[in-house]
Amino acid sequence: IAAQVIPMDPPLADGGRLVILLSDRTRERALERMRADFVANASHELRTPLASLIGFIETLRGPAEDDPAARQRFLGIMAEQSERMRRLIDDLLGLSRIEMTEHQPPVGEADLAAVAQAEAAALEPLYRGRDMRLDLALAPAVAAPADAEQLAQVVRNLLENAVRYGREGGQVRIETGPGGRQAGRAGVTLTVSDDGPGIPREHIPRLTERFYRVDTGRSRRVGGTGLGLAIVKHIVNRHRGQLVIESEEGQGARFKVWLPAAPAR
Ligand code: ADP
Repeated sequence: IAAQVIPMDPPLADGGRLVILLSDRTRERALERMRADFVANASHELRTPLASLIGFIETLRGPAEDDPAARQRFLGIMAEQSERMRRLIDDLLGLSRIEMTEHQPPVGEADLAAVAQAEAAALEPLYRGRDMRLDLALAPAVAAPADAEQLAQVVRNLLENAVRYGREGGQVRIETGPGGRQAGRAGVTLTVSDDGPGIPREHIPRLTERFYRVDTGRSRRVGGTGLGLAIVKHIVNRHRGQLVIESEEGQGARFKVWLPAAPAR
């Protein structure tokens, strides 16, 4: 609690000379801590590939100068680390842009099936690379008041995760359709599911926190930034929707996005 004492001169009408203001700063403090943690985490995430780049530059200048095979290998690693930094910066900027628009309702309308279809086509090389099958069950004409680009990002992030963390040679499914009513509003849903190892129950409530990962080493190896689901959550919040994550260990994972439906014409 913060206490502030304000001496009153001239005295108040009832003769009082002091005003004491008490305010509960718990929430403010929690927000400050979250912000500080975020900056510390982001700096750490950027520092790791940067340290690796600096190390390899030194090696290339010194011991590896006359070793063409080593030079090629090191340049390959440096390209990967630079790419990792680029992805991280893109996601950090994306997140801050989404946060800035979070209180503005989306403009326009998007058809979930059309967005899902386009993203599925764009990510084909990714799921083919892991020998996975993509199953599309898209009910036509399910529209939501939505920013089409942000909705595409939701599908992209969920689909990328299903491919990265799903089972090699397994199956990923995207479904769109009418959703149930929530708080009296008709909705539409988009579900991305996989048949991979799933997510241990205790991690599920924290998955949308920034930089939260079940297995940090695995996330980094597959090119994750730890921000994908935080971005999804912010976009869904902006659209006044809901994200439900369901998983049983060994039984795959299911990410279901519910959005308010566009008014019927
Ligand atoms: P990342 O960049 O690490 O993938 P995300 O925010 O997208 O970050 O996801 C957070 C974590 O949630 C991942 O590191 C992974 O541990 C877990 N996760 C996300 N999607 C799945 C999935 N389909 N199956 C299993 N685990 C998943």
